[in-house]
Amino acid sequence: MKNLIAGRWVPPAAGATLDCRNPSTGEVFAQIADSGAEDIDAAVTAARAAFDSGVWNDLSATERGRVLARFAALIAEDAEPLAALEAQDTGKPLSTARNDITALIRYFDYYGAAADKLYGEVVPYLFGHSVTVVHEPHGVTGHILPWNYPAQMFGRTLAPALAMGNCTVLKPAEDGCASVLKLADLANRAGLPDGVLNVITGRGEVAGAALAMHADVDFISFTGSPRVGQLVQKMAADHFAGCTLELGGKSPNILFDDADLAEAIPVICRSIVQNAGQTCAAGSRVLIHRPIYEKALSQLAEAFAALTAGAPEMEADCGPIITRKQMQAVTGFVARAEAAGTRVVARGRVLDGVSPEGNFVAPMLFETSDRDSEIACEEVFGPVLVALPFEDEADAIRLANGTDYGLVAAIWTRDGGRQQRLSRRVRGGQIFINCYGAGAGIELPFGGVGKSGHGREKGMAALHDFSVTKTIIHRYST
Ligand code: NAD
Repeated sequence: MKNLIAGRWVPPAAGATLDCRNPSTGEVFAQIADSGAEDIDAAVTAARAAFDSGVWNDLSATERGRVLARFAALIAEDAEPLAALEAQDTGKPLSTARNDITALIRYFDYYGAAADKLYGEVVPYLFGHSVTVVHEPHGVTGHILPWNYPAQMFGRTLAPALAMGNCTVLKPAEDGCASVLKLADLANRAGLPDGVLNVITGRGEVAGAALAMHADVDFISFTGSPRVGQLVQKMAADHFAGCTLELGGKSPNILFDDADLAEAIPVICRSIVQNAGQTCAAGSRVLIHRPIYEKALSQLAEAFAALTAGAPEMEADCGPIITRKQMQAVTGFVARAEAAGTRVVARGRVLDGVSPEGNFVAPMLFETSDRDSEIACEEVFGPVLVALPFEDEADAIRLANGTDYGLVAAIWTRDGGRQQRLSRRVRGGQIFINCYGAGAGIELPFGGVGKSGHGREKGMAALHDFSVTKTIIHRYST
């Protein structure tokens, strides 16, 4: 497979390729370009030329919105093959991949409709002056994607950037980029002018770093690990580019003694096993009020013991982990927790009939009261849940805020005052009350604090992140 530069599919300058492996079977099913700095430079040059020509940013916002809506319609026509490709490439169950494509379509529909709704302001100022505040595109934006939701992430980062009139260079992850390449092809057919979207595949430390370091990139949107996010921010700072970072979390479900357990338990399980736990907003901690600790833990244990991992067509609760390396990272967390004496409360199972070459990990539930342990604080990015007890409301807040992350949290209680108090005091970009997750909530601003990153995606907030505010002060004769 090739790179998309200035509307044409071209091989990487050095001619090198990387294998795409099916995580359920270990089989190589495609090759992608292993691009270098030269390819990134060509893509950034194409994006800059497109921006400077005004072919996209000088269109009316309504016109840009129409192109995005056409793109959404083309994706919808190809939804089923795209979902099948996403399932093959990432290992997620087909039903999850279908949901991802539905969300992707919604991103382009939403931002297609939103393109002409980000109004400026007229500010009252001195007599004889007219002051307007307008929102303009950055120029060239760079987008570095993770492998866990390639299709959804394509929509999440690109749709608002394009709606604002930016010209873009996108680097998907090494693993999980087949759907992205198909989508780039469809974007061409939807009428996106040449050079407005350029897609370069390759290794992070080579192609990703070249994009983050490129002096002609005005803004970077990154989703992935905190380690690389920090590097990307430093590289962007070297040429004074802004960035948004979405870096994952250790998000809690906080379960009070008045919660409806029958409602909460299945949601808590889904919040960690969805996408095999490879979700930035996974509910990877469950904090349980002491009076119901044993009861809630035993109900969770029963639910966990019934959970399964399997290939996409088996429609198990989780698919495989994306790569062998990432699987070893997950099993490493599990082994270290067990070696430290952390109690395994329940273990799901890997279904019979899966390939031994697949990267399957059984869902696991741990419990601990060691709040500083690795398993209680660090993101595993696998189907591993840890339960911890808390004593009262103040302790729940302390424990919820007790990691370096702050992405999302859920509060399970019927007490209205407590719902309000906790939703204000728990750190995070989204707080759920008696529910969990808003993956498909395209209209809801999303993002983290601390080690979870900064900037906001989704909703109208993303249009602000992908634009520059300019104030125009006009003095006229009175
Ligand atoms: P990563 O951060 O290494 O990769 C994410 C993206 O960054 C990929 O496109 C990669 O090619 C690129 N990249 C890697 N090194 C780079 C560099 N030096 N400069 C610029 N770009 C670079 O993530 P990973 O190794 O694939 O996964 C490791 C961990 O990251 C996971 O265990 C998980 O904790 C976290 N992660 C989080 C998310 C999320 O949604 N927040 C997604 C994927 C992974």
